[in-house]
Amino acid sequence: MAMNRIQFRSGLSILESLKGFGTEAQCEQALEVASWSDGFHCPRCNGTAYYVIRDGIRKVFQCRACRHQTSLIAGTVFQGTKLT
Ligand SMILES: [Zn+2]
Repeated sequence: MAMNRIQFRSGLSILESLKGFGTEAQCEQALEVASWSDGFHCPRCNGTAYYVIRDGIRKVFQCRACRHQTSLIAGTVFQGTKLT
């Protein structure tokens, strides 16, 4: 499996912190904080305004400017994996 070009910005500390999380919701929170420690940034247009959309149990962020949708695990090594 090829590694995604987008790696954790904070290094292994995130993986370490994830070990303590038992639920997907908690992982989601951790990833949200880890992904955008300085706020949401659209990967397409770098906009910072967004909507939060619930897609089942997933939280999807939609950029207000270009409507690009990003899920919390998109672009991370967790994409395509099941955490629970
Ligand atoms: Zn955008």
